[in-house]
Amino acid sequence: MPMRTLIRDVRVFDGERTVPRADVLIDGALIAEPDGRPADVEIDGSGRTVLPGLIDAHTHVFDGDLAQALTFGVTTELDMFCLPQNLARQRRIAAERDDVADLRSAGVLATAPGGHPSQLMAAEGMAALGDAVGPFETVADAGQARAFVAARLAEGADYLKIAIDGGTVSGTPLPVLGPDVVAALVEAAHDAGLQAIAHAVTTKDALVALDAGVDGLAHVCFDADPLDSAADDLAARIAAQGVFVVSTLSYFEAITGSPGGAEPMRDERIRSRLPEHARAAGDRDTDALPVYSEGVAGALHAARALHRAGVPLLAGTDATPFAPLHGAGMHREMVLLTEAGLTPEETLAAATAVPARWFGLTDRGRIAPGLRADLVLVEGDPTGDITATRAVIDVWRRGVRQSR
Ligand SMILES: [Zn+2]
Repeated sequence: MPMRTLIRDVRVFDGERTVPRADVLIDGALIAEPDGRPADVEIDGSGRTVLPGLIDAHTHVFDGDLAQALTFGVTTELDMFCLPQNLARQRRIAAERDDVADLRSAGVLATAPGGHPSQLMAAEGMAALGDAVGPFETVADAGQARAFVAARLAEGADYLKIAIDGGTVSGTPLPVLGPDVVAALVEAAHDAGLQAIAHAVTTKDALVALDAGVDGLAHVCFDADPLDSAADDLAARIAAQGVFVVSTLSYFEAITGSPGGAEPMRDERIRSRLPEHARAAGDRDTDALPVYSEGVAGALHAARALHRAGVPLLAGTDATPFAPLHGAGMHREMVLLTEAGLTPEETLAAATAVPARWFGLTDRGRIAPGLRADLVLVEGDPTGDITATRAVIDVWRRGVRQSR
């Protein structure tokens, strides 16, 4: 008989709305309707809230990251660039083990030869990541788009990621895909049944992605002047095309060295769960980073405009082994989403049901009978105070309760 766990008298945020008091039954790997029969384990949920497992809609997975993510209640990560050998290993780990977050991935992203993020692959300190970094297949012209997408399908990609960035993130000019190549890649992805998701951080690059007909943007843009209407104009265009946007506000904090990025490191609820190497990464000196001083303000401004325009915002961090940190970063991202004008409930939806819907993850992201028992139990009420997500008591992945 599968193990049955009953969480009693708990506040339930089901991915869309809140029920102040209910019982939630975990029957084996799935959520079930409470039936009055005794459970093997009963947990008092009073004063606590149960949430669907969090889904980080933008990460980069290296060894150890999926385990770290799960301790923070992130039960699924949507990886946006992973080399083939590393991807095969992470997939195997996610399938075989119950103490790690689940994974979807773009595999190798599409970029111009020498284009973003080739420069990061060659950066100092990356060699320690072994076969997870190195040279990768690129796209020189539109004629290569179909073969590139076919190769991604063969390596098991769940969607296509396309980088459109002539050096904004790196601070030095880099080769970038032309609009015709981006359009050919999107068409090839759609013909193969894959969604196309673009990395673009400026309005100009986002317009190339929108012209090409992408399904999603992997970042908000951070270059719109808060004093004019550019962010609203872009948001209106994104809304009209039915495109979703992954927020990655904590990514902009990280690349600009914004002091807010260190805030989670001062919160014992987060710090105490981090392995030593991640604490060292989180405590890093950000003075040496290239600082786009308006970066975080610009990204928040864009997120506000997108939210006002009704664009689906998906919580995502762009987590790496450096910054933002896997798992921990999501709890910072959710605070930033509330600063962008989302209510705590809208923020929690952006971290659960909304990414599940846009990525076709029909078995998770909500609390309902028959869905995967990917759950997080926290102390307090994050539907009122979003930082209560950090007070993690228990995490279940596919019905397996994680030891603390
Ligand atoms: Zn990324």
